[in-house]
This record gives sequence, structure tokens and C-alpha cells, in this order.
Amino acid sequence: MTGYFAERILLPGGEIANQVYLEIADGRFTQVLPQTRCHPGVKPKRVIPGLVLPGFANTHSHSFHRALRGHSQQVSPDGIPGSFWTWRQQMYSVAEQLTPDSYYALALATYREMVSVGYTCVGEFHYLHHQRDGHPYDNPNVMGQAIIAAATDAGIRLTLLDTCYLSSGFGAPAEGVQLRFSDQTVNGWLERWSALSERHDNVQLGAAIHSVRAVSPADLATLANHLTDCPLHIHVSEQATENEGCLAAYGQTPTQVLASAGLVRPSLTAVHATHLTKEDVEVLGQAKSYISVCPTTERDLGDGIGPSRQLAAAGAQLTLGSDSQAVIDPFAEMMALELNERLATRRRGHFAAAELLDIGGRVGHLGLGWPDAGEIAVGKRADLVVVDQASVRTAGTGGSLEMVAFAATGADVQRVMIDGRWVFDGDRDSITEAYRLWSAGERPR
Ligand SMILES: [Zn+2]
Repeated sequence: MTGYFAERILLPGGEIANQVYLEIADGRFTQVLPQTRCHPGVKPKRVIPGLVLPGFANTHSHSFHRALRGHSQQVSPDGIPGSFWTWRQQMYSVAEQLTPDSYYALALATYREMVSVGYTCVGEFHYLHHQRDGHPYDNPNVMGQAIIAAATDAGIRLTLLDTCYLSSGFGAPAEGVQLRFSDQTVNGWLERWSALSERHDNVQLGAAIHSVRAVSPADLATLANHLTDCPLHIHVSEQATENEGCLAAYGQTPTQVLASAGLVRPSLTAVHATHLTKEDVEVLGQAKSYISVCPTTERDLGDGIGPSRQLAAAGAQLTLGSDSQAVIDPFAEMMALELNERLATRRRGHFAAAELLDIGGRVGHLGLGWPDAGEIAVGKRADLVVVDQASVRTAGTGGSLEMVAFAATGADVQRVMIDGRWVFDGDRDSITEAYRLWSAGERPR
């Protein structure tokens, strides 16, 4: 048992409490007592200054996309205007090169960066499974295990969303680098997925279906029957052209195709859900499905602004993801969710600060299958994110919830605890060193 004394803490319900005594045992909160005078058993080093938040959940991550940061903003050399599709070609050229070792090294650095800005949990949408020619490695799950090892070594909680990807688009065979993604048949994917047995206290196995482009309606129905008791994530309507292709192929929107297959359910996370019809919004809302909005990626790729407020009003549960890693910062995602709505509607005040924090933390953990995380409360996993209230960005803000959602950034995070263990103590040099080792092809430490 370890006791801490925190000056200010965000409690469930959006209330900030002062002078809080915390007791942690076996990685969980056993006492949370506001308005307590400094506990005599608490050593000075266990007094936590600043504002303490629960951990953030990153519900949509492709860790290897981090390699594109700083290299993907130019218009294509052949003069084609940049778009999601030209960016995808650049992403494919990174995917082509990765080995189990370099996949691990890049994911380790990326997850360390995530921890340093307050993410305590990540959902890795993992589709890079096989060798360059499409043949499985001797160990067919070596790439997924590299992700598990990287998350474990970075100290971040992981839901591995191993992804079924079978077609380059509406039935066309996978080609080029997509061969690395494909298990050929839905049963091939199920067999490999079922063999992934790594489950630890802070790692769990979920599933993902890449999109309605990559898996046929018949195979979606097969997966709906098998994937009944785990988090299930699917890219949905990120691009208008995906909707056009889906309507041409099946006469339905992507959401309708998923609903017909029986996949629109409470355990579903629809990733992006940017270009939806009113009926799509109702279908996802009535099912109380999760939505992973990825605002900093969606603006980077020019995807558009999704109907977040309408989805929430219909009953869907919003969460946030860093997706392409153009930005890794939960504060930036929260702020962008509200500011995008303002740009789209020319009005202010769609999401209050407390709601944004709930979306970024508690609800995100739920969408990744961790109902026992994301809140500072007795019995929950002991995650803490300590935010500096006196940085150049936060000084003079009064340390309010508005400060957290609309002024602070990931650079204001000073310490991070995950499952009762301090995983980040302000040392950002070790993160840059991890990226240096990855880019130099050296073994990370
Ligand atoms: Zn994605």
C-alpha cells in the first residue's frame, strides 16, 4: 500500500477536489479522500503538486504511421494534389520496409511519446501481419507480439485490435504491400487471431475489421458470429469515395452494410464515422456504439468534419484517437472536437470541458474494453496524469477544467502513473533517444 497526497484532483462527474489523500494497493485506488489534511504517513516526496487527472485512452492508433510525421505534407512529385489516397501511398512505402524488430522499435518510441502526454491506454489497430511477399512469418503472430512487447516495455495499457484485411477494395484481391495485411480468407484470419494468446493484466486482445472495402458482406457476417465478446473496431466512412464505392458495390452505405451483417452493436467502435447519412447516425446511436473520432488526423488528411454532436445526441458514445500520429496529444484532440464543431456550425459551446475530459478518458477506456479504468475512484486502476498549472500556457488560467481542455497541451504533463506505477517522470530525452535508435536501426534500450 502506498499513500499520496494531491493538491488538486479531477474526480468522477467533473468536480475538482482539493487536498486529496490517495491510497493505492496492487495497482488500484483503495482510498480517495478529498479535503484531508496532509496525511502523517505520506512522505514529502509523495505529495503531488499540480492538477491531477485520470488517464487518457487513445482509441485509434497505427503506431508505425509515426514514421510519416515530417515527411508527408508535400504535394505528390507527379503533380497530383495531395489527398488521403496520395498519403496512403506514402504510408504503404513505410509499411513495406518494416520488420518485427523495427516495428517494435518504432512502436516503443511512439508509445513512450503517448505516455509522456497522458495516454495511459492505447488501442492498436494492427494490420501489418506478414512478410513482404505475403507469406506468414515462421511465427505468424510475430508482428502482433512486437506490438505487445513495445506496449509492455513502454508501460502503457494495450488493447491489441488485430485486424482482418482481405481485399484491396470491394472484392478485388490484395496487391502490393497489402499482401502483408491479408490472411487470404476469413478463416485464415480467425485461425491466426485465435492463436494470439497473450493476455496480461494490462494487455487484452480485441479485434478489428479494416473496413467494408477490405472485407466482403459474407465474411462480415461470419465475423459477426465469432466476435461476440471482445472490443471490435472498424474504419467507417472516413472518405466520401468509400461511401460511393460501397453504394456502387452493395447498394448500401458502409454503416448499412455493417448493420445488415449484425455488426452494429454496443461493443462496436466505428472509427472516423465522418461521412454519414442521418439514418446512419440513428443506427449507430440506437446501438449505443462507440465512435472513435480522430480530429487531428482527419484535418491532416483532409477527411472532413464528422457529425460528432449529432452522434452523441443520438446515443453513440464518442471517444478520441491519434490515428496517423501526425499529432500525439489528447489535449489537442479534445480541443479540436469542440473547435471543429464551431467551424462547421459557426457557433460556440457544443462540448463542455468536463464532457471532453470524460470522452478522452473514461469513455475511451470503455471502448477499449477497460471498464475499470479512466476515473480516480476506489476500485479503479490507479492511473494519474499530473498537469502543470503554471506553465507558459496554463499560468493565469486558474487551473480550471477549461484550462485543461482549452489551454493545456501534452507538453504540460509532468508525471504519469499507470496501474500504480510511475511510468513517466518528466524525462523527455529518453523518448527522443528511442526515436533516434529506431531511425538509426539500433536496438532500443
Ligand atoms: Zn485508422
